[in-house]
Amino acid sequence: MVRVSGAGALAVADAVFRAPVRLASVAANTMHHGWAMWPACVETEGAGAPRRLDEVVAAVFRAPRSYTREDVVELSCHGGRLPAERVLAALLHAGARLARPGEFTLRAFLNGRLDLAQAEAVADLIHAETQAAQDLALSQLAGALSRRLEALAERLSDALADVEARIDFAEDVGGIEVPAHVVAAITGVSADLAGLLEGAAYARAVREGVRVVLVGRPNVGKSSLFNALLGEERAIVTPLPGTTRDLVRERLEIAGVPVTLVDTAGWRTGGGAIETIGVERARAALGEARVALWVVDRSAALEEEDHRIAACLGGKRVLVALNKCDRPAALERADLPRVSEGPVPEAVEVSAITGQGVQQLGVALGGLLGADGGAPALASAVANPRHIEALERARAALGRGTSAARAGLPGEIVALELREGLSCLGEVTGRTLGDDLLERIFSRFCVGK
Ligand code: GDP
Repeated sequence: MVRVSGAGALAVADAVFRAPVRLASVAANTMHHGWAMWPACVETEGAGAPRRLDEVVAAVFRAPRSYTREDVVELSCHGGRLPAERVLAALLHAGARLARPGEFTLRAFLNGRLDLAQAEAVADLIHAETQAAQDLALSQLAGALSRRLEALAERLSDALADVEARIDFAEDVGGIEVPAHVVAAITGVSADLAGLLEGAAYARAVREGVRVVLVGRPNVGKSSLFNALLGEERAIVTPLPGTTRDLVRERLEIAGVPVTLVDTAGWRTGGGAIETIGVERARAALGEARVALWVVDRSAALEEEDHRIAACLGGKRVLVALNKCDRPAALERADLPRVSEGPVPEAVEVSAITGQGVQQLGVALGGLLGADGGAPALASAVANPRHIEALERARAALGRGTSAARAGLPGEIVALELREGLSCLGEVTGRTLGDDLLERIFSRFCVGK
């Protein structure tokens, strides 16, 4: 489908559309069958071979009832690359210009049809890799997050108005004290913000995906477990940019989270023999990854290398796979070393060979990714780091505001913090924004959206 938007959309489309009707004169929200022609050939009947480009259906939307709130014509072509490409070329020849990435959605935002959080949801929808990620984007697109934030902003505005009204009368009453009911209102908003941010880590994992690195000394069964997990969990079939030959990576879905599972046993020498995975290599593979699946051979005593690998896991969320549980046990969870400062990590007994425990391992991994307690309420979760950061700043400002009020500081100071909090909330929906922000957000889109 080729979409044209703007004041000249109907005229431009008419220049390439041959049909009994002129699109400029048809009613809004109607569809018309016709032929897309090279502009000069639209009117010329019979003279030489007509330059037909495709047989199309034109849908006409008139401002403000369209995606962009401008006049819009959408020409549906036959499938395939060439028909749409030729129709696009003809429209450009007729005076249209190519849209920039996300420009239709940007115009929808600038014309007030979507707020910024909704516009960002369009990009999230396009990039979603799991159904959970898609559901999250759809609920944000439908305005669930925006409505909650607007309700909070309204309560905050009321509190601010209350404080400001008192400041205006301060001369009469001699300085103002912020009354208890206003402080309660501010802490109420702050608590609701905290609730909103609660599921953020999981929602963010659903939106962005998580890299899980399998570590463990050679021969504990990393590769076998890697394959067992892939067999158990639904693999996501998307090409992985940057997949290298010496690192085995697969995409799979765990509890709605797109997981990139990295097998450090992927480093093998040319002959296929397993190369010793030194501590340095485990560390390099872990890199920035926040989640590690540490594979330990339960049928053998811990070795020095197990301890050295454990020492690399500090600061990460760690799940232990006690593998080879089909064999007699030589160690238990309690024998595991503590990971860095943390407690003994959670462990699941598995057998990569018999498949025992592999499903439980997937569930435990989901828990590690934040998906505790079944399907969590993602509907109004905050997943976008830009939103999370702005809401945290809002919460900090409200915290300072209530402290100031409780300390009996002048109402002006409390009002200042409330205004800051409101401004942070407004950043999410785009009420308060800078130009560079729009640039950053819409560069994530592809052309045509
Ligand atoms: P890696 O070097 O950590 O990747 O280990 P591999 O996956 O290559 O496995 C090393 C050896 O252990 C192979 O001979 C596997 O067949 C065997 N192995 C892996 N998992 C299990 C298991 O759960 N039970 C048993 N009995 N053997 C296993």
